Amino acid sequence: MWSTEEVARTLDPELRRALAERVRYCHELGIYDFYRREATSVVGEAVPVSLSPTTQSELREEMSARKSAVVPVIAEDNIFEIVTPKPEFGLADPVAALKLIREDLGDCTRCKLHKQGRKQIVFGVGNPRAELMFVGEGPGADEDAQGEPFVGRAGQLLNNMIKAMGLRREDVYIANVVKCRPPGNRTPERDECETCSPFLMRQIAVVKPKVVVALGAVSAKNLLAINAPMSELRGRWYDFKPAGVRIKDASWPGARLAVTYHPAFLLRDPRQKGEAWKDLQMVMKYLGIEPPKKAAE
Ligand code: SF4
Repeated sequence: MWSTEEVARTLDPELRRALAERVRYCHELGIYDFYRREATSVVGEAVPVSLSPTTQSELREEMSARKSAVVPVIAEDNIFEIVTPKPEFGLADPVAALKLIREDLGDCTRCKLHKQGRKQIVFGVGNPRAELMFVGEGPGADEDAQGEPFVGRAGQLLNNMIKAMGLRREDVYIANVVKCRPPGNRTPERDECETCSPFLMRQIAVVKPKVVVALGAVSAKNLLAINAPMSELRGRWYDFKPAGVRIKDASWPGARLAVTYHPAFLLRDPRQKGEAWKDLQMVMKYLGIEPPKKAAE
């Protein structure tokens, strides 16, 4: 078995340079960890091969196929020296860690949403040590104007849902798959989600919630890398670990993830509120939350 160092030493200098450029590019996208399929067998053996031809979407595809299908490759030496650790890596304080992720995001121009009328980046809000995290699709007009997720009509409904659970908005953490408003509130496109979601994954890895609730199909599909209708996605638990984030913290085994309707959908079809409440009750039961009597009636 060869180590990554030994493999890299055998590489043509041109290929080494190309790999270094590729890794730098991924770093600029906020991607720091690389995965390869288990079928490529021994860790370290096929690393350069799996990295060199990787397009962004291919890389994301591999990152998304978490669980047992992938093996994390530790980028630790030679050409991988240029991959500096995530800025927040090793920080015990989630407030400081989230601040570093936000700084890393900067005035982001990584995907085309930056030039399609966004007023500002909508990073995330709430308790950085929250047990419960809600993840929506992307900012709308109100969120774009105020710089905070879920502050419009859908946000008010989400606030009511949180209150009905016996919690306050400031108890939970709220973020979106993409951090810039898609024009006309269209659904974010795949490349936009793939480019932006590594930052969401890092936020989740910092907050370390017990439960992540995916609001709507776009959120669920991006978090779980599952393409299925809401009817199949809802009503069950998923084991969830943020894709592309190397977690060394043994105190956090990952989160449980549940899927429910997006509040904007519930505004359009209030008949589904009862179904959403069932999803939230499943979450409350797991977290041991008793709803306030009035809210539960
Ligand atoms: S949506 Fe995300 S990746 Fe795209 S420009 Fe905004 S912050 Fe950057």
